Amino acid sequence: MQRMRVAVVGGGLGGLTAAALLARGGCEVTLYERSKHLGGRARTTEVEGFRFNLGPHALYRAGAALRVLARLGVKPTGGIPAQAGSHALLAGRLHTLPRGAVTLMTTDVLSLAGKLEVAKLLAGLARIDTRSLGALSLREWLETRLTRKDGRALLAALIRVSTYCADMDALSAGAALKQLQCATAASVLYVDGGWSTLVDAVERVGREAGARLELSARVAAVALQEGGKRVEGVRLAGGTVHRADAVVLAGSPADVAALLPGDAVLAREAREAVPIQAATLELGLSVLPRPEALFALGLDGPWYASVHSASAKLAPAGSAMVHVAKYLGGADTAASEAELEAVMDVLQPGWRAKVVARRFRPSLIVSAGLPCAANGGLLGRPAVEVPHVAGLYRVGDWVGAEGMLADASLASAEAVWQALMRRTRTSQRRAAGA
Ligand SMILES: Cc1cc2nc3c(=O)[nH]c(=O)nc-3n(C[C@H](O)[C@H](O)[C@H](O)COP(=O)(O)OP(=O)(O)OC[C@H]3O[C@@H](n4cnc5c(N)ncnc54)[C@H](O)[C@@H]3O)c2cc1C
Repeated sequence: MQRMRVAVVGGGLGGLTAAALLARGGCEVTLYERSKHLGGRARTTEVEGFRFNLGPHALYRAGAALRVLARLGVKPTGGIPAQAGSHALLAGRLHTLPRGAVTLMTTDVLSLAGKLEVAKLLAGLARIDTRSLGALSLREWLETRLTRKDGRALLAALIRVSTYCADMDALSAGAALKQLQCATAASVLYVDGGWSTLVDAVERVGREAGARLELSARVAAVALQEGGKRVEGVRLAGGTVHRADAVVLAGSPADVAALLPGDAVLAREAREAVPIQAATLELGLSVLPRPEALFALGLDGPWYASVHSASAKLAPAGSAMVHVAKYLGGADTAASEAELEAVMDVLQPGWRAKVVARRFRPSLIVSAGLPCAANGGLLGRPAVEVPHVAGLYRVGDWVGAEGMLADASLASAEAVWQALMRRTRTSQRRAAGA
């Protein structure tokens, strides 16, 4: 029987994972990536021996990404950030960050009433049924569950660091709490060598299984069969059409809509998608001025700073790699470098004299579509199968009902693989019966 031909458009971690799974499942896979490199937002750049991810990246240890990578035999190494050295940033000063029963009781960022309310909520967090909260905004949920402003500020900060999202009006409470449950269940992993080690490992698996990976290959359109209801293949920027039985689109909602011009459903999804954005500052320091200060989380502003090299191999011996970020959202769509530097002034005074390498980005797309309360949260995200075009699938951190960020991207890659394996088995049964 002829093998199923699959075209994957996009060589980020999601598209690559789909390509590797499908090639291992026996499909004839060709992946097209418009840039010169694989990896998309999961790329790592080496500057003066420091390994800079594109902003702070952490794998959720209880999330889908690790599960799907394990299917491919990819087992990332790295470290779990320690709780010691963690601070809350409030009114321009460092305070104890409540991360457990003891720090919750000793911190001065909460009143006694606030502490009791937060302690009760966190004790019951794992038992919250998040599915019923999909259509409620995070702000509405916080206001009904916590009467104290200080407690709400702490919960909002914990959810920001877990979801990357600062838009409490748009974000679904169900999705936010599911992500917080995932983060608190098993913490995160900072990956040795950066996320490009994941990209390289998945690329290796894909190539070994026979996937063809074409770089500098921009797909200009999805070619449809007559009638427009079934895929025929992909049309490259040069005009050549490559035939395929299934096409997997692994870019953003706007990328997907651009490949099927005139498709009103995909155009609406692209218009309605609300990206999660952040400003980031990467720093390579010859030495940490304050080795005991490893993490800061803003309570009165959307700030984050973390010494990733304290937990993973990302810097030359003795030196330090620090990620600083501002979570953007709503009208806040970019940040200045000075804002992020000010966070470092509090966490690591004297850092400026130790800079060996640095990189600033005023605004990056962290996730192509946040799970909006207005659409019902995770269950309201577009499905992996495009229902009105047979053979068309999508993968990304805005697709499917499972997870956020890279977890969603890899969970959707896994779901596409499962759908196509089902299709292959059905065709085989039909062929055997014929
Ligand atoms: C600052 C920052 C911090 C983050 N932190 C975390 C974190 O801590 N934890 C976490 O889980 N996730 C995090 N993420 C998110 C994570 O990086 C992404 O969810 C994941 O890498 C997305 O992978 P993807 O393959 O779905 O998309 P992308 O990486 O965006 O890949 C899409 C690819 O498709 C290609 N493409 C698009 N259209 C075409 C076309 N027409 N033809 C050919 N190629 C095309 C693009 O060039 C791109 O390479 C972070 C992201 C950022 C930016």
